[in-house]
Amino acid sequence: MASHTPSQRYLSTRGGSYDFSFEDVVLKGLAADGGLFIPEEIPALPQGWQTEWANLSFEELAVNIFSLYISPSEIPPADLKELVRKSYATFRDPSVTPTVTLDPTRNVHLLELFHGPTFAFKDVALQFLGNLFEYFLVRRNADKSAADREHLVVIGATSGDTGSAAIYGLRGKKDLSVFIMHPKGKISPVQEAQMTTVLDANVHNLAVEGTFDDCQDFVKALFADTEFNKTHRLAAVNSINWARILAQITYYFASYFALRRANPSQQSIRFVVPTGNFGDILAGYFAKRMGLPITQLVIATNENDILHRFWRSGRYEKHEVRGPAAAGGLPQDGVKAHEAGVKETLSPAMDILVSSNFERLLWFLAHDVLGSGDEASRRKTAGEAVNGWLQALKTEGGFAVPEEVLAKARQNFATERVSDAQTLATITGAYKWAKGYVLDPHSAIGIAAAERVVQQGAEGDVVALATAHPAKFSGAVELALAQEKAFDFKAHVQPKEFAGLEDLPRRVTTVRREDGLEGVRKVVLEEVAAEGAA
Ligand SMILES: *Cc1c(COP(=O)(O)O)cnc(C)c1O
Repeated sequence: MASHTPSQRYLSTRGGSYDFSFEDVVLKGLAADGGLFIPEEIPALPQGWQTEWANLSFEELAVNIFSLYISPSEIPPADLKELVRKSYATFRDPSVTPTVTLDPTRNVHLLELFHGPTFAFKDVALQFLGNLFEYFLVRRNADKSAADREHLVVIGATSGDTGSAAIYGLRGKKDLSVFIMHPKGKISPVQEAQMTTVLDANVHNLAVEGTFDDCQDFVKALFADTEFNKTHRLAAVNSINWARILAQITYYFASYFALRRANPSQQSIRFVVPTGNFGDILAGYFAKRMGLPITQLVIATNENDILHRFWRSGRYEKHEVRGPAAAGGLPQDGVKAHEAGVKETLSPAMDILVSSNFERLLWFLAHDVLGSGDEASRRKTAGEAVNGWLQALKTEGGFAVPEEVLAKARQNFATERVSDAQTLATITGAYKWAKGYVLDPHSAIGIAAAERVVQQGAEGDVVALATAHPAKFSGAVELALAQEKAFDFKAHVQPKEFAGLEDLPRRVTTVRREDGLEGVRKVVLEEVAAEGAA
């Protein structure tokens, strides 16, 4: 294999910063100009990868892929290997992310991403991110006295999946505390139990009296609070952290090789991805740009369909503009159209108004299509375009891209929008045609979109990504399968790990509505201090 030892650096999508190391990018999360970090160059696959990687394990693939994005001077190969080993040792399936064939006649497959500790795909990234944080901190603290040690405070808000995956990724890690806020009483009982029964001293659950948006506002306020930041080094684990995208590239390769081993003559492969913040599918785009022969990436959305609307119209708008408003008239009820909220659906992990990682794709589209001249001027053009679009999103609730940018986006991606009714019908349908396979509502959106893609005449393999285990979303699953006499949720769906979970001791601090941000700040300060004293 051609040896490739890149010195990989990172830049911001808004053009304000260049030449960051991987470590900086992971610890910062967001760039100072408000942009997201992307690699200055997407590495090409080494010569012979198709044969030399064909029989590698998930862990070996991960090491090979990560080495193309992380300079060996930053993380020596032996350390990287150990980080990867540790991150995926917590998975229950030996192949980590197995690809199962759901319908051999139509070549419909499911890439199961839910075999990690919290039974959702976010574990693939957060197990690795947790180990990375610890690795960097321990190294920075190697020669420091106890008083000088850098301590990282990770703060996040969750409506379910992210919070539990973050907690399981960060529990027990050295020099790091994690605070996860959830809206009290508003997340599923399984998710609440998953999070609050983790009793490690560095894990802190805050049940906030309010909504998920209130929790997010508190996170933003703490990050913006200069006093607070003077004494505490804050970090985020939300889906914009570059390490999360990187970690997710591996399973596209793993699935590709699994299918090729099963059927070497099959040429075409499409991935259908249940999409919210665009992190999961963006990893597929990186895989494709690196050289993995993916025929198409299909974005499957629920009724929060900003991406679906973008691919139809070239307009990225928080709110669909209809009727009089579209013609320039006043939107109803004096509410600015773009201030309307998120729709609650049966697939809550995809309930978003805007997709934060979409900004990264926009940068590449602008770079390829609008840019000209040398690489430096292409980057400049891309940064300026992205900056302008994102400002318009903030001030006007949306923006439109030039025709050729949209055309470029359509070269790689297609989109499908799936309603709640179709989600339920797909769970019911798959249970019948896939011999009792039980889909969770997010994975069902992927399968519903995959079925449409097949119907439209797509040839070759169609792989839908299964992003959560059905036991996490019992409400929708039981609703869809209520008529199936032989179906028994506890017997057929519930994993043994969930039995008795609800009865375990819990640790959670309630933040009362009247205490608001001050209440949150006080809890964080007190609990970090108490941890240090322990
Ligand atoms: C987070 C999540 C998604 C959406 O993934 P993005 O990377 O945000 O697009 C889909 N399904 C489940 C179960 C999730 O937890």
